[in-house]
Amino acid sequence: MARQIVTGTAETKEDRVLMSEGIRPQRLEDYIGQEKIKDSLRVYMEAARMRGDALDHVLFYGPPGLGKTTLAGIIANEMGTSLKVTSGPAIEKPGEIAAILNNLQEGDILFVDEIHRLNRQVEEVLYPAMEDYAIDIVIGKGATARSIRLELPKFTLVGATTRPGMLTAPLRDRFGVVGHLDYYSVPELKLIIERTAERLRVRIDEKGASELARRSRGTPRLANRLLKRVRDFAMVKYDGEINAAVAADALDILEVDQFGLEKLDRDILETMIVKFGGGPVGLDTLSSSIGEDSGTIEDVYEPYLLKTGFIIRTPRGRMVTEAAYEHLGYDLPQE
Ligand code: ADP
Repeated sequence: MARQIVTGTAETKEDRVLMSEGIRPQRLEDYIGQEKIKDSLRVYMEAARMRGDALDHVLFYGPPGLGKTTLAGIIANEMGTSLKVTSGPAIEKPGEIAAILNNLQEGDILFVDEIHRLNRQVEEVLYPAMEDYAIDIVIGKGATARSIRLELPKFTLVGATTRPGMLTAPLRDRFGVVGHLDYYSVPELKLIIERTAERLRVRIDEKGASELARRSRGTPRLANRLLKRVRDFAMVKYDGEINAAVAADALDILEVDQFGLEKLDRDILETMIVKFGGGPVGLDTLSSSIGEDSGTIEDVYEPYLLKTGFIIRTPRGRMVTEAAYEHLGYDLPQE
């Protein structure tokens, strides 16, 4: 696949390493889980191929590390076109997005990560580009200014966001296909871990893979990252093979508990219990008492704590549940 980062970077260094090791799935059949999204993508891609047309614009949303970028690459591979990668915060001026669009070839996939962070003027260039495959450019100034329309090749915009609620309505409405990525099940993560282990030539038995899968908080990126860390422990402290005991030992040292909670997850719960009597507490109050950015709490930590049922959201703020008291070993408040 031709893959090119046009501006900024949507990938972490770790992702690039994973790519170079051939861990990121390249084809839809290698992409584990998210069956609903895969089923609809298969149909839409097939239909576009039959019509000899570009695929409709696609929006993926869901927490980080669940495979949005990977899917964009897979779409390009399956459609036999190339992938251009950029991100919302990397494009500052309308001219920059115009240049990116103008350099696309017929059928290209333009991946825009964190698309909710595009600014208004940049977004306005995208509207006609997505709808009519054209951009309007203003030439000259004042009374002599005139607008000319530049035709673009038919391309597919693939947008990714962790915050679908922050997308403006006109942008959201221009996506024909919308896919919500949800956390992965333990059996799915186990498959991902076994597949990565095979590629990295790491020896891991079934129970070891299950243990890692259970503690990967539903997230493939984390599953792959934990596998690599645990492999290091297995090499240095044991005979190199990862079994349940090795995995559990290494993950305890890494402070990842049986539910996949990390230190910061536990800090959040503990702060809510100790300082705020279990809540309700507002996001900003919580963020300043923990010293973690409120956006990070909302995008990265909170969705998993909600999913696992350690916290709930109420109209007055977040509250911890009985399960959180129990998990952290605190007595339930009397009332
Ligand atoms: P996002 O863009 O949602 O933050 P990525 O697409 O970068 O997530 O995925 C993170 C990593 O997890 C990738 O490097 C890839 O190897 C792995 N991954 C994600 N989804 C899957 C999947 N469905 N099957 C196998 N591996 C996956």
